[in-house]
Amino acid sequence: MAVSEKELQELVRSVLARMGDLTPSQQEETGVYDKMEDAIAASARAQKEIRRMPLEFREKIIANIRKLTMENLQKLAEMGVAETGMGNIGHKIIKHQLVAEKTPGTEDLSTIAWSGDRGLTLVEQGPFGVIGAITPSTNPSETVLCNSIGMLAAGNSVVFNPHPSAIGVSSFAVQLVNQASIAAGGPANIATTVRKPTLETADIMYKSPVIPLLVATGGPGVVTAVLSTGKRAIGAGAGNPPVVVDETADIRKAAEDIINGATLDNNLPCIAEKEVVVVDKVADELMFYMEQCGAYRLTDKALIDKLAEMVLTTNKKGKQIVSRDWVGRDAYKFLNALGIDADASVKCIIFEAEEEHILVQTELMMPILGIVRAKDAQSAMEMGVRLEHGNRHSAHMHSKNVDHLTQFGQMIDTAIFVKNGPSYAALGFGGEGFPTFTIASRTGEGLTSAKTFTKSRRCVMTDALCIR
Ligand code: NAD
Repeated sequence: MAVSEKELQELVRSVLARMGDLTPSQQEETGVYDKMEDAIAASARAQKEIRRMPLEFREKIIANIRKLTMENLQKLAEMGVAETGMGNIGHKIIKHQLVAEKTPGTEDLSTIAWSGDRGLTLVEQGPFGVIGAITPSTNPSETVLCNSIGMLAAGNSVVFNPHPSAIGVSSFAVQLVNQASIAAGGPANIATTVRKPTLETADIMYKSPVIPLLVATGGPGVVTAVLSTGKRAIGAGAGNPPVVVDETADIRKAAEDIINGATLDNNLPCIAEKEVVVVDKVADELMFYMEQCGAYRLTDKALIDKLAEMVLTTNKKGKQIVSRDWVGRDAYKFLNALGIDADASVKCIIFEAEEEHILVQTELMMPILGIVRAKDAQSAMEMGVRLEHGNRHSAHMHSKNVDHLTQFGQMIDTAIFVKNGPSYAALGFGGEGFPTFTIASRTGEGLTSAKTFTKSRRCVMTDALCIR
């Protein structure tokens, strides 16, 4: 049953307040610690037990994590929206369900074997040990749960330093993971975190000799930070995914897919369509169908400028960045703030702009799509590459021309390239494959899963065990 926003704020407040009062034994049980040093030590103890666990037992715990996530879908989604002010409850339910049902477990691990006259050699995927993970505000509990399943499947424990503005829901997810383990007869602390994550607690994590691998999911700041530690690090960083539409595309379907992809959880996923580059000949038709699919088209230049002023702010270095007050908000709220009467039936705001427009150049994470015209497919693809800013994260295209699809895929060289579908097809939602909320764009592992969190170990038997 859905609860009111006031009740939700109360729920988040009470979770946070309870976290403040945890006794040492409660900290031990929930995995939520006052001090990062204690969270790391507890994780190291849990890892020793995980290391000895049969794979079947890891799977038992993972099955419980899936079950508890499914039982708490509504609560996780409501808490996330109430605490961060971002996103959409219905869509967050879908995202958590995807994590629960489709995140790969131990079956993701594989073995390579060579056998012959000189014996048998195996290459197996072993755990790193204790992983330090940094998680974002945009998909907070989704990332904690998805990382926990994959990291545990690979035999690791994990210490989280979540985004401070999503600490309530992230800690709740950590508690679910431990509850799942305890219910299966496993140890507590297979995932741990701290009550007040800060840059200082992240730094303790970076410097801990117990942690050999860091996994950062977030913007460029945190990815650069983990890559500068001198440790092995997986960096799942920012994107600005363009979607290119050429004159051969099924324009009506392209419009529908783009609006659906760009409005999932109010555009919070890093893979979501952030701007559209369309061949001039079909641009009007595309915008017509986008409006049919729930987009509101802003045409007044003064209002577009006002929108930019509203959703962007200037950081200490004088750079224009997105205002957190507007990230992941409902489309109608932007329109209301501009003095336009609109309701929740509006899914997205679209407007025409030049390539250089700040709202096109910036990764907004809001249901706002700039539409840029290009004279032909070639220049549309070139523009798409420029707008992706070399993040090598995600890009999408609608076309029936296989040469164009191939060329754009090669040119843009991103971890994700969805063709003729909504961006979320890349997460196994309406497309083949598994989901993840940690897409290692910067460091090249791509969509992470259990095997990403392993190290390769060669195990050699000489002159025996070959039975050919
Ligand atoms: P953010 O960068 O503000 O925060 C992410 C995490 O990093 C938080 O836990 C934050 O506290 C921490 N952090 C930030 N700067 C840090 C630093 N210098 N040292 C240590 N920790 C630091 O990101 P956000 O706003 O929560 O999330 C949105 C951003 O993350 C977008 O750019 C989005 O594209 C990206 N993202 C990427 C992926 C991916 O899989 N590639 C997934 C989700 C989000």
